[in-house]
Amino acid sequence: MRFEAFVGFLERIRATTSRNEKVSIAASLLGSLRPREIRPAIYLVRGTVFPAHDQRELNVGWSTLWRAISKLSAYGDEELIELYKRAGDLGLLAERAMLKRKVAPLHVREIELEDVYDTLVRVATLTGPSSAEHKERHILGLLGQVSPPEAKYVVKIVAGEMRYGLREGLLEEAIAKAFGAPLALIRRANMLTSDLGFVAETASKSVEELERLNIRLFRPVKHMLAEPSDTLEGAISYHGGKVAIEPKYDGCRLQVHKGGKEAKIYSRRLEDVTRSFPELVSEFVSIPHDFIIDGEAVYWKDGRPGPFQYLVRRLRRKEDIDRVVRMYPSMFFAFDILYLDGASLVDRTYEERRKILEGVIPDGRHIACSERFTFTNLDEARRLFERSLEMGYEGLMIKDLESTYKPGRRGKHWFKYKEALETLDLVVVMAEYGHGARAGLLSDYTFAAWDENHAELVPVGKAYSGLTDAEILDMTRRLRRLAVKEVGTRVYLEPKIVMEVAFGDVQRSPRYPIGLALRFPRIKAIRDDLGLEDVDTVKRIRQIYEKLHGR
Ligand code: AMP
Repeated sequence: MRFEAFVGFLERIRATTSRNEKVSIAASLLGSLRPREIRPAIYLVRGTVFPAHDQRELNVGWSTLWRAISKLSAYGDEELIELYKRAGDLGLLAERAMLKRKVAPLHVREIELEDVYDTLVRVATLTGPSSAEHKERHILGLLGQVSPPEAKYVVKIVAGEMRYGLREGLLEEAIAKAFGAPLALIRRANMLTSDLGFVAETASKSVEELERLNIRLFRPVKHMLAEPSDTLEGAISYHGGKVAIEPKYDGCRLQVHKGGKEAKIYSRRLEDVTRSFPELVSEFVSIPHDFIIDGEAVYWKDGRPGPFQYLVRRLRRKEDIDRVVRMYPSMFFAFDILYLDGASLVDRTYEERRKILEGVIPDGRHIACSERFTFTNLDEARRLFERSLEMGYEGLMIKDLESTYKPGRRGKHWFKYKEALETLDLVVVMAEYGHGARAGLLSDYTFAAWDENHAELVPVGKAYSGLTDAEILDMTRRLRRLAVKEVGTRVYLEPKIVMEVAFGDVQRSPRYPIGLALRFPRIKAIRDDLGLEDVDTVKRIRQIYEKLHGR
């Protein structure tokens, strides 16, 4: 398929607000592809190049894209900045900028979807000292050959801003429709493989093959998530008291895959973080089974948990791992098992899985099974909650005894119950230099949340406090690298860094586009374990407002 035709489909999907129509258009897109184009098309529609378990990354920054656009466009930098301010998005900027090219291409080559895909794969595969230069050349070459609307999509995909695509749920429906496969089967296969491209390709072959897809060692699956509960009673009575209660450990969610002599550890975002946890790896490889285990690693000192940020420091560290490992010791609490010695366990109940888990995980120096209690009565549950806070945990998890493991789903099978204060995960979009002792440091941050459509990031508040001086210094260095443009003391940023922000209240405010602002926001944690997709929505802020103000 020509890339132009592919972009045409994407534009049609974007143009309609009807979900059924979106699904139909996507289904006819899938139906018009050659077999080998199915996977690339699915990845690109989702704005990625690889499935989650593939660790390759494009690693092309905004500045590279900006340079490429500015080399090709006849607009000067000042004009481009103006255009960018109006467009608010690099993809749209690319489209507009390419309407006025410096040199009209002699002949616009008719580019295939696969050409674009292959170029992006090549860009991702380039590593090493001079790779940045080569990456830029490839991107420039690609943008030099495409039409303005095509450039828009190339840039959106490379910048990781492809929000014009289709939500995963709708794409699952489109795959079912295009290849005549039952939707439930598509969903299940996607849950178990976390690779919708692979699922679509399999669905295009046969339903039998689709049925055979299952969880596999060294293919991370999305984590099962919990729903917040405002009260402990509510969470327990929802399942008629048939629940298990576990402490809510405050650390890094990890999924451990162990097969033969090898163990790999994946983060919440399914990144391979094996190198950051050598002491866990050496304990896991000595267990005489093959397994996939879900759990939480906690910063652990003198028999107690400590601030989870310390552990996150390990994740960012590339060199001298041994030193940080010694500095920030960890303890891993296993709370679920998804696979054992060749068999998937996701369809077993929590109780069954838990029993199996306890048989597999011995108490080690750095690993143990999570604590867990079966619910008896409310007073006891409240005592467990108090105790969990005393022990330095965050609260409790309340889990339905009958539930199967549902990868990637946030549902009522697991509830989390924490102390009252709300927090939001927000992304820093602008930073300002501070005054006085903080002059020269980017110390004031403006945070954004997703709008209702998950299409744009809108500013919702500003925070000055919560970080230590050392953290501000480090943040200043990191944010400077993400600068897109500077106006006076303000630095507009590529939205990359997610922070957990606590606040006292939500109030009406004409100063913010959503008409609401967070009161007394305070940075609780830098969440390098979270990505843009984890950022909270404006809808959630409205809900909190309504809850607090009783409307
Ligand atoms: P939150 O990050 O607030 O959405 O809470 C859900 C997270 O709590 C999970 O993703 C886990 O990382 C973490 N967690 C801590 N302890 C447990 C536990 N016992 N069972 C499940 N998740 C847990």
